[in-house]
Parts: sequence; structure tokens; C-alpha cells
Amino acid sequence: MIVTTQATITSEQSVLLQAHLERLGTNALPLEWNGAQNYVLGDTALDEHDIHALTALGADRVISLKQQYQVVSRAFQPANTIVNVSGVTFGGEQVPVIVGPCSVETEDQMAAVVAGARRAGCTMIRGGAYKPRTSPYAFQGHGELGLELLCDAAHPKGLPVVTEIMDIRELDAFMKHNVDAIQVGTRNMQNFSLLKELGATRIPIILKRGMSATLSEWLMAAEYIASGGNSQIILCERGIRTFETAYRNVLDVTGVIVAKKETHLPVIVDPSHAGGKAWMVAALAKAAIAVGADGLLVEMHPNPKESWCDADQALSIEEIEDLVPQLDAVAQAVGRSILA
Ligand code: PEP
Ligand code: MN
Repeated sequence: MIVTTQATITSEQSVLLQAHLERLGTNALPLEWNGAQNYVLGDTALDEHDIHALTALGADRVISLKQQYQVVSRAFQPANTIVNVSGVTFGGEQVPVIVGPCSVETEDQMAAVVAGARRAGCTMIRGGAYKPRTSPYAFQGHGELGLELLCDAAHPKGLPVVTEIMDIRELDAFMKHNVDAIQVGTRNMQNFSLLKELGATRIPIILKRGMSATLSEWLMAAEYIASGGNSQIILCERGIRTFETAYRNVLDVTGVIVAKKETHLPVIVDPSHAGGKAWMVAALAKAAIAVGADGLLVEMHPNPKESWCDADQALSIEEIEDLVPQLDAVAQAVGRSILA
């Protein structure tokens, strides 16, 4: 249940309203959402008499939600949330394409990535600095130096960046280098302490789906961020684990459709970690746009075979240049366009 308040509510009324909610025995979590004051009551049920009393105290709507997820649900907010990442918007008619390497390697590599992205008409850059690797002996990312190389290459060319956080202790470095959006990777989707900390920021978050997470678990992970008041959340489907071994993961296009129905948050797709092989990426990217994805996150490398990680799935700059017009054609067919 969520109690929204009237636009004209005074701070005295707010205090009385919250006190009344507490008297009713609810665990009312105050939540400022898009400039308005709300109280999230979780699964508490109120009767008509209670609701009448709340209205007299400045409540506007008392929204009863049957889902576990509340703030991120369309039942709470029917209109799409538009997430603005330093001028690149997700959730509207235009569909941004984010490209870049799995990991930030060198200054030259990043200069080529940024120049290639601009040539191809892509509007945002990705690149890992803190890498979650299966083996502790594999390249772990350049850490803060990686953030510096990423931001120094992309920002002067007017392109915002997204990069993965693994531990909240890295946040200061993210702020210092003006990282525009923070990625929470599949392995951290249910790192609830990390999610709570990111909910306390107002930085856009790209929340990847856990590799074995149900849609409800994914949306509840988003709820952790949203319940801290951070509405700038982009969900990212990146393939789930199944019994199939012929490719890395199964891109859950059905999940994209359902997620977009259930939540007002933008839903983007990472076709690279889904397929795991470069030759599959274009088809998966087109499928994603066809089912209504609000953006793409694609691994691109100036020399894919030389990638320090995920070499099998990276597309070359030329392949991205070739792909973007095809994506735009698919987007046009479903009433949208690729953001150039
Ligand atoms: C990545 O984007 O490089 C990454 C590690 O992704 P995921 O968390 O989806 O595996
Ligand atoms: Mn990768």
C-alpha cells in the first residue's frame, strides 16, 4: 500500500499524517518520489475508516497494491519513468545504444572506442574498471585508473558513461570522475546492502538481472533502490541460465515484455552477455528492439580478438556501424527510433 499526499500538504500536516500512520500500526516509510511526498506501507491493509482519516490529514490517494514490489510497479505510477543520463534519455520514444569494451584497457583503446561510437551514431559509452571475474587470476580491471581512462575519453566528446560498481567503497572514485550511470552487475543484483546505498544516491543505476533471478526478484532488487528515493533506475536483461549449453545465456525476450508491463522503469537489453558469441549479437539486438527494449548495451572493441576479457562476444566498430541502421529500421517498425 502506498499513501500519496496532496500537493498542498504542509510540513505540520505531514508530521500528523506520519504519526497517524504509526498509530495505525504501519511501518510507514517516507518516500520522496519525483518531488512528491509519499508513505510506503508495504503489505499493511487499511480499512475505509482509516483511509477517510488519512485524507483529512492531507493524504491524496491510498493505493492498494497486490504485488510485493510497490514503488517500481505500474500500479503505483502508470506513466513511464524517463531516466536521464547526462542528456541521454531512456524510456521515451528514442532508443539509445550504449557501446564499449567489456573492460577498459588502454588510452588508445578508449580513444578508438569513443571515435567509433560517434561514427556509428551511438550515444553512450560502457567499459568495466572493476570487473567481476570468475577466476581471481584473471584481469580484475584497472580500478580507479580505468574510471579515469573511460571518463577522460568519453566526456570531452560529450558522451556519458556507465561502468560497474562491485563494492560501495568504490563510490567515491565514481563521484570523483563524474561517472554518469552506475551498473550493478548480474552477480550483485541481490547485494541488498549495495542496493540500499545506491538508493540513497540520485545517480542513475543500470540494474542487470541476476543470471538466475525471477522477474519478481529482479523488480524487488529495483525496489531496494527505489525505496531509498532514487527513481533513476534502468533495468537490463542480459540473459538467464538454463539447461542449454550451446550459448552463454538465454536472452529472455518474454521477460522484457512482462517487465515493461509490470514496471514503469525503462528496460534495456544486453545482447552480448546473452549470446556470448559475436555472431549472435546483431540478431539478439534486433529481437530486443522488436519486443520494446528501451535501449541496448553492446560490447564493442576496436580489435575484438585482442579483448582482455569477453573476446568472443565483442563486435568490431565496423560491425556496430553496420548494425545501427538495421536497429533503426526495426525501431521504426515498432513506432520508435534509435537515438542518434
Ligand atoms: C559486463 O557488463 O561486463 C558484465 C560483467 O555483465 P554481467 O553482470 O551481465 O555479467
Ligand atoms: Mn563482459
